[in-house]
Amino acid sequence: KKYVIVTGGVLSGIGKGIFSASLARLMKEYGVDVNVLKIDPYLNVDAGTMNPNQHGEVFVTEDGYEADLDLGHYERFLGRDMTRHNNMTAGQVYLRVIEKERQGKYLGNTVQIVPHLTEEIKDRIRSLEAELLVVEIGGTVGDIEGEVFLEAVRELQMEEGRENFLFAHVTYVPYLRTTNEFKTKPTQQSVQLLRRIGITPDMIIVRSEFPLDVPSMNKVALFSGVPREFVINLPDTKNVYEVPEILRDMGLHEKISSKLKLDLKDTGFNWS
Ligand code: ADP
Repeated sequence: KKYVIVTGGVLSGIGKGIFSASLARLMKEYGVDVNVLKIDPYLNVDAGTMNPNQHGEVFVTEDGYEADLDLGHYERFLGRDMTRHNNMTAGQVYLRVIEKERQGKYLGNTVQIVPHLTEEIKDRIRSLEAELLVVEIGGTVGDIEGEVFLEAVRELQMEEGRENFLFAHVTYVPYLRTTNEFKTKPTQQSVQLLRRIGITPDMIIVRSEFPLDVPSMNKVALFSGVPREFVINLPDTKNVYEVPEILRDMGLHEKISSKLKLDLKDTGFNWS
């Protein structure tokens, strides 16, 4: 099994979900058996008790699970029904570990974030069947809530083999009108945060308002230590349903298949 782990830097709401869903769709169009997992670091067990004004609509899955609206993106982009297994929240993980503690399953051991929560997270990630599993970690690198999930995927990569993992980091590069330039510093800092916790990104997805200039793209590649062809720019588009095709035109499927050694088959493309 291969994994693409999508993390976010700089800000939330920059299009990590759209990118993850688009990437999953693109690989599916090339004949790869893709599944997705959205991780939400909040302590709610599911999105059913969350105020829609704060968190957007609740998306109810086929099996009656109340999820984040991101699962709706996945369902629409992938054309495949999502279930409760496609979402994991910190609340679910904590609840399960505490239940097990009450049942005496830890045999008297001190129950800790590492290894007990991380083992629970890794088990849940491993339990999803697929040739390629896209795991989107909600929130932004550096958030205290997300730390345990990042630690779990860091361990998972060591246990399952680094060659089976691709870490894709989605960041935002703002454009400063007063000086007419793109600012890459926040991206640089978020990559540093990721490295500090032991995760080396393989790909940087730069979201921006307009297309980035070549020197700024080169700068991102240089300071993040990612080969230039693995730094891609996704400027705002009018229609997010075009993102899978935009990624295809950039040859993202080839980059991913070369890195993860996945076989691609042209299934004839039907983007509708
Ligand atoms: P995140 O997962 O980072 O919180 P989402 O993927 O949910 O962000 O996207 C946040 C908002 O930005 C959504 O309204 C989405 O439609 C919009 N968006 C995402 N990617 C793009 C893009 N490439 N161009 C224009 N709008 C986008």
